[in-house]
Amino acid sequence: KETNTRQRLPIIPQGIEKDIFIRALEKLAEQLGKDNVEVNDKPLVDGWYMEHPNTHDMMPILDDEELVASAVVYPSSTEEVQKIVLWANEYSVPIFPISMGRNLGYGGAAPRVRGSVVIDLGKRMSKILDINPDDYTCLVEPGVSFYALHEAIQAKGFAHMWIDIPDLGGGSVIGNTLDRGVGYTPYGDHWACHSGLEVVLPTGEVIRTGMGALPGNNTWQTFPYGFGPYSDGLFSQSNFGIVTKMGMTLMPNPGGHESFMYAFEKEEDLEPLMEIIRPLRIGNILENVAQVRHAIQTIAVKGLPRTKYFSGDGPIPEHVFREQLKKMPIGDHTWLYYGMSYGPPHIRQYKLEIIDKEFKKIPGARKIDPEILPEDEYFWSRDRIAAGVPDLVELLWVNWVPNGAHVAFSPVSPIRGVDAMKLFNLGKRRHDEFGIDFLPAFCVGLREMHLIVEIVYDKNDPAKRKAANDCLREMIDDAAKEGYGEYRTHLVLMDQVADTYNWNDNALMKFNEKLKDALDPNGIMAPGKSGIWPKRYRGRGWEM
Ligand code: FAD
Repeated sequence: KETNTRQRLPIIPQGIEKDIFIRALEKLAEQLGKDNVEVNDKPLVDGWYMEHPNTHDMMPILDDEELVASAVVYPSSTEEVQKIVLWANEYSVPIFPISMGRNLGYGGAAPRVRGSVVIDLGKRMSKILDINPDDYTCLVEPGVSFYALHEAIQAKGFAHMWIDIPDLGGGSVIGNTLDRGVGYTPYGDHWACHSGLEVVLPTGEVIRTGMGALPGNNTWQTFPYGFGPYSDGLFSQSNFGIVTKMGMTLMPNPGGHESFMYAFEKEEDLEPLMEIIRPLRIGNILENVAQVRHAIQTIAVKGLPRTKYFSGDGPIPEHVFREQLKKMPIGDHTWLYYGMSYGPPHIRQYKLEIIDKEFKKIPGARKIDPEILPEDEYFWSRDRIAAGVPDLVELLWVNWVPNGAHVAFSPVSPIRGVDAMKLFNLGKRRHDEFGIDFLPAFCVGLREMHLIVEIVYDKNDPAKRKAANDCLREMIDDAAKEGYGEYRTHLVLMDQVADTYNWNDNALMKFNEKLKDALDPNGIMAPGKSGIWPKRYRGRGWEM
């Protein structure tokens, strides 16, 4: 727990006079109630994961003052969200919606434009509107966390349904899904598993997507497409609307599950390992979004600071972390594969035997017997997560440095050995150059994988922040030159990442800008999010 406070002056959105802005907030308070409009005039408190701020990023990578809200407002209904949007249009105030604001590593609760009014939907819009035990679906508001959904399903005694969760369970089901986050059961692609949105558009109208547009339907959560253009995609990783309800599909309890872990000795084993994983994953023998993690993470996730192992500057030397690994139950290795097999024992047996035979084609590959692992071993956290039980253990590696913060490099590639090695070497080279420990993990989807590299840095040290930012920017450019793009990124890197998707003279961004100008003519909705700037900001020095 960390309670750093950072003093600052009150903030007024650019282009608005202070008196007009204060009066505008008073007007909004008349509509929402004065307790539901909070001016951000206090010191910035970072708190920690469970008590995170909603005014700024608790893991800043730029100067503290850069990405900060002027005020936070708390709607209680779709109608109140509409009122806020109409108000923002009237006064030309930039607004920035968050569900819970735990988007750590990607900007937290911070708005992209300093002085935006943050709409914290999670505080008062946190109802689970429906859990359907026949269709295996639910309908939620933005403030429903993975923990809350899991608990509600348990409380109703619906043991036949599971949810899918990311590594940390405190985020919002809607927020995570809209940012196209991932979890680790066969339902790990959250965006692919949602069905139906209710959205407040930047001009205040409300739409329901898919079957939700048909009055009296009973298929909003079971058939995502409806009729006509499939518009849902416009509302993920975008600034085209505020999602007030979302349907989500739930996984059937598979009737048994079993985690397994394999250790591989050498860095170069990554290449043949990926070649083995690909057909097994596409063929669904490897069933979940599994993780291939580097050994150094086995140490970092113990939760102790790196100084416990190495007090020098620069990345931890290999011999130092290898010495440490030898003392741990898993022993010396370079890569660990964490997976889970689902179904009753005879079904699992069938798949696990194939996996064992294939993985052991790599010389030195070992299956780790879970029996030898103590209760606090990270393996058991992965076991819970792959069974849809929310957890917080993953937070431990943030303690790797004092005042730990992190930011992610997350390029996408096919599940191929040659791509995995290219991305691994690219990341390693840049981390060495900037003197940063390299903590890579590959999350294997169905036909692609995300390499997730978390740079953990001391947020109170400007030089470390700068090194993290510079290292990331270099890696994004290096990756783009090789044809790799990020699946998601931090607020401060969105312009750069959007710019790498520039095929045919930036045709995609031109299309996004056309949509932005049509849907949000006053440019009030999350300006700059995903690199999409409305007309009145475009080309005026906002891009980073
Ligand atoms: P929010 O912060 O509320 O929202 C996320 C984004 O969506 C924001 O940019 C916001 O502007 C936009 N948004 C939110 N709600 C709305 C809305 N209603 N309408 C329009 N736009 C909206 N993430 C993963 O996906 N998988 C992981 O395994 C994972 N592991 C992590 C491990 C650690 C240690 C940490 C610190 C983070 C990890 N994360 C992971 C990142 C992050 O914690 C989660 O993705 C988290 O769920 C996102 O926060 P949130 O759900 O509160 O979303």
